[in-house]
Amino acid sequence: MKKLAVITGAGKGIGKALAECFAKEGFSLALCSRTEADLQALQAKLTQEYPEINVFIRPTDVSKKEEVLNFAQMVQETSLPVEILVNNAGVFLPGQIHQEEDGALEKQIETNLYSAYHLIRALVPTMIEAKRGHIFNICSTASITAYTNGGSYCISKFAMLGMSKVLREEMKPYNIRVTSVLPGATLTNSWTGSDLPESRFMPPEDVAEVVLNTYHLSERTVIEEILMRPQLGDIG
Ligand code: NAP
Repeated sequence: MKKLAVITGAGKGIGKALAECFAKEGFSLALCSRTEADLQALQAKLTQEYPEINVFIRPTDVSKKEEVLNFAQMVQETSLPVEILVNNAGVFLPGQIHQEEDGALEKQIETNLYSAYHLIRALVPTMIEAKRGHIFNICSTASITAYTNGGSYCISKFAMLGMSKVLREEMKPYNIRVTSVLPGATLTNSWTGSDLPESRFMPPEDVAEVVLNTYHLSERTVIEEILMRPQLGDIG
């Protein structure tokens, strides 16, 4: 039976690198993000390179609960068992709590946290039934560090790590592994406009590779947290 990797925010950056990594491993994919053209281009590329897999796509704004639930429905309609779920979609709006735009907190909590909460609740019941699967929650070094330009982004990522730790405890009896991933600065669109050199960032492919290697460990082992930073250290 084919296995499915579900990845949110897969059109660009870390999510796209994850999709490419799991496709290479023979996983079929269920992918979402808002920009349909990104998803279509990735679907065309991956099905050409790996004709044995299926790539299911659905344009989704994960900050909206009903759209998350529609995406979950598409996943269920594939009838493939969810082996991997990566809650990756996220948005970074730099700022400080006392200065950032009104609504910055709501937007980042909805996109970075509630999205994962709703998708987990929609997909976990069938994973529990199957007693299988591995959930990766893409947190950040901003989940453990109060960056002065982090504002509500830090709040959302601290909360995401909290949720991920709770889920890890809850999933123990069901043979479902839960891993929190805390990357530092990674060279993606999140950093558009930054004039820092490439050497200050990790490549998104490195994050994807660590996730894949973590999945490949024995089912008796879970890496609970992955903390990774650029070799030259944090930015800012
Ligand atoms: P990115 O290159 O900007 O990609 C983000 C992806 O998420 C895109 O495909 C984007 O597509 C999608 N997305 C954004 N808002 C969405 C929404 N409301 N609904 C559905 N999809 C949405 O960002 P990235 O750097 O790869 O970030 C991926 C994750 O890693 C995020 O959770 C981020 O917080 C985390 N992270 C990144 C870094 C870093 O330095 N890059 C460090 C630590 C953690 P659309 O715009 O088309 O929707």
